[in-house]
Amino acid sequence: MADIASIDSLDAAGKKVLVRVDFNAPVDGEGNVTDDTRLRAALPTINKLINDGAKVILTSHRGRPAGTGYEEAFSLAPIARRLQELLGRDIVLTRDLIGPDVAEVVDAMGDGDVVLLENIRFDKREKKNDPEFARALADLADVYVNDAFGTAHRAHASTAGVAEYLPSYAGYLMQKEVATLTGMLDNPRRPFVAILGGSKVSDKIKVIDALMDKADVLIIGGGMCFTFLLAQGYSVGTSLKEDDWVERAGQMIQKAADKGVKLLLPVDVVVADRFAEDAETATVTVDAIPDDMMGLDIGPDTAAIYAEAIGGAATVFWNGPMGVFEMKPFEAGTLAVANAVAENQDADTIIGGGDSVAAVNKFNLADAMTFISTGGGASMELVQGEALPGVEALRVTAA
Ligand code: ADP
Ligand code: MG
Repeated sequence: MADIASIDSLDAAGKKVLVRVDFNAPVDGEGNVTDDTRLRAALPTINKLINDGAKVILTSHRGRPAGTGYEEAFSLAPIARRLQELLGRDIVLTRDLIGPDVAEVVDAMGDGDVVLLENIRFDKREKKNDPEFARALADLADVYVNDAFGTAHRAHASTAGVAEYLPSYAGYLMQKEVATLTGMLDNPRRPFVAILGGSKVSDKIKVIDALMDKADVLIIGGGMCFTFLLAQGYSVGTSLKEDDWVERAGQMIQKAADKGVKLLLPVDVVVADRFAEDAETATVTVDAIPDDMMGLDIGPDTAAIYAEAIGGAATVFWNGPMGVFEMKPFEAGTLAVANAVAENQDADTIIGGGDSVAAVNKFNLADAMTFISTGGGASMELVQGEALPGVEALRVTAA
């Protein structure tokens, strides 16, 4: 981050500061934000700018509107209400995103005031990174701050394009996310244990490949383990499997052996006769998966082996649940791994990925972790070694 300016170096007093945040939070039918993690994560940056006496203009997307104008279902109104509570001050939600009416609202702001622009994806030029749209956004402000790590892997007008036209800075959340994840990759305390699960090998192969170059131990669970078990020559019944990826999984097994990375795969699994909470289940060793059953969790022997490896780690990175943790009969593997990570208080423990974070929250273990990334796709792309457009844009124009 050395070549990216921090908001700590910004003299924001009296300035109009356009801040891209990631307020893409879940909202229930009554218009209540059901998980305000992403709002809270942006508070250090927002409060710093308020305290500095900046005029804070916030912009975010929420969901996937058509991009043809205002849609009530995707309005930021519920976000604005929750944010007012969190900040303890009134904020103004604009109807327009750019143009004279917004400029008028901004001109009326006092130092320390906060304005939230409506859902930036109400205009389809946002996702197209349209230069004129980015320019019009920039015209609202004197300075740009990006604190939206969760959308840093997108090159949109408000995440990247606008940085062409304004002095640009990274907010605290952006800095923390990038510093934690790159620090883990570049200079982990060892042993470094990476745990990968979730549904598909095809989704995660680049992450597996990248972590193979960094980690000492690689633990595989979740739906994708069955493609690995196929590569080991086992039959996996009706489990989730990707036939086109068996060869690639075999190459990963070979790569681990060549590099001296300890690759841990399941030795037993929980199988079910169908994908349902009330399915018939059994625990079997991986050489005895019935043809008409599917594996929906790692088994207890596997969980014990994984927990022991995690207990010996100095750095843990975890992405992807070990099983279908959303259903009670298949949550034990994910819970055992979550507990093992939580119990290793000597290690740096970093959780990334939407469903893995949901699992940790479900088990009430979030507080025991060192760091929980707010970016699913963005953290995966960073771990894969890909440049994030939202970060690169700050690099180019850093003041
Ligand atoms: P993350 O969001 O943490 O990156 P993924 O999106 O890759 O994780 O995968 C999460 C999903 O994988 C969960 O909904 C979970 O139910 C599913 N899953 C885990 N294990 C299995 C399995 N054995 N069979 C089918 N789906 C699974
Ligand atoms: Mg997911």
